[in-house]
Amino acid sequence: MLELRPNCECCDCDLAPDSREAMICSFECTFCADCARDALHGVCPNCGGGLVRRPVRPAAKLATHPASTRRVVKAHGCAS
Ligand SMILES: [Zn+2]
Ligand SMILES: [Zn+2]
Repeated sequence: MLELRPNCECCDCDLAPDSREAMICSFECTFCADCARDALHGVCPNCGGGLVRRPVRPAAKLATHPASTRRVVKAHGCAS
């Protein structure tokens, strides 16, 4: 199951499970759309893979398969 992380790994802003601003790589590294575009240029800084928009889990499914509450933040942010 996809881990729906609650925040951007770069700027630590909140990303709701139904946010259309959340971007992920294949390892579920999670970023907001602003960081993904402006700071990362669509490439995950951890694994080098591409970032795509995270699919939204339907609200009814969140009741039985809740989003992650584990915040992951990159130690020094994503400033290049
Ligand atoms: Zn961000
Ligand atoms: Zn990654």
